Amino acid sequence: MLGQAEYIWLDGEQPTQQLRSKTRILPLPDNRAVDLSMLPEWSFDGSSTYQAAGDDSDLTLTPVAVTPDPIRGKGNVLVLCEVTTGDGTPHSSNTRAQLRRVLDAGAGSEEAWVGFEQEYTLFRDERPLGFPERGFPAPQGPFYCGVGVDRVYGREFVETHTMACIEAGLMIYGTNAEVMPGQWEFQIGYRGIEDESADPINASDHLILARWLLRRLGEQFGLDPRFDPKPARGDWNGAGAHTNFSTRSMREPGSGIHAIRRAMHRLGATHDTHIACYGHGLEHRLTGQHETCEIGQFRGGVADRSASIRIPRHVERRGGGYFEDRRPGANCDPYLVCTALLTTIRAHESAVDGLAKAG
Ligand code: ADP
Ligand code: MN
Ligand code: MN
Ligand code: MN
Repeated sequence: MLGQAEYIWLDGEQPTQQLRSKTRILPLPDNRAVDLSMLPEWSFDGSSTYQAAGDDSDLTLTPVAVTPDPIRGKGNVLVLCEVTTGDGTPHSSNTRAQLRRVLDAGAGSEEAWVGFEQEYTLFRDERPLGFPERGFPAPQGPFYCGVGVDRVYGREFVETHTMACIEAGLMIYGTNAEVMPGQWEFQIGYRGIEDESADPINASDHLILARWLLRRLGEQFGLDPRFDPKPARGDWNGAGAHTNFSTRSMREPGSGIHAIRRAMHRLGATHDTHIACYGHGLEHRLTGQHETCEIGQFRGGVADRSASIRIPRHVERRGGGYFEDRRPGANCDPYLVCTALLTTIRAHESAVDGLAKAG
């Protein structure tokens, strides 16, 4: 049977890479049975995606993950791709390959699990959904996890996106209406279901595919989902991508909390490195207001939503689990966020190992 394979990749736009995709018609079996070996590499014009000069424009899409396509339905697939150059090496915009290198160089042994809380804002006619043509909606307060036509905007769209993620087999964990009208969140990654892997690559891949579905379904609803970290200036919440993170040693009940505290200490020392790769325009969101810590400061805390890193109350009580990095912006690159977290935490762990050996 012939089916449609949607090849999806991240382009080279600066300061924030954007999603691109194009469609290939291929002989495909029933979509659950499609594997990567059935999906050929495919070239594209890198000079039209800020990834190459016009006189040397051929780049390659290398399929790295495949899921059923919930929009076109049975027999069709979504194909996430890495961008490679003519000789097969990763293109400079290919941050997924960087994360792979860090994992292959040893970080894979941490057995990290990741869960992202992706916030976004629905725009229509250049304003957030629920914002009147002139002036502003009522002050924030009633909207977060609200219900009812006077406080919730875009629910049908959100329901459609959630169902699409489930049908595509993505690890979507939950959704909620956010603090600002027209703002929503979905969580994706670790959800404690057997046989699923929320390793950094897989969780990040799922986030990218879920973002693509958001943008694609927005076309059908006439809605423009944006990942701007501060879509409305003033007394309105920004949009982030809280990153929940654990290693095997952090998850150990009783002793895990010590691994988490050691990691927090190290994260304090590398704060600026993380801020530099957590998304463009972060200074407008990390102001010290609206449940954030000011961008120039680093603070860790239990159950503290004005901290940079929060240890959930239940994690402290159990003596292990995960921490939440509250700094990444909604427009962050999940591969870069995971690379930064693993690098910081590994540097610390190896230093501790070194001390232990020296002692
Ligand atoms: P919040 O209270 O910050 O709004 P949410 O309920 O929105 O939290 O999201 C919780 C997140 O924690 C989810 O993304 C989930 O995947 C993640 N998570 C839970 N347990 C772990 C774990 N052990 N390791 C990594 N992430 C985890
Ligand atoms: Mn949340
Ligand atoms: Mn949130
Ligand atoms: Mn959170």
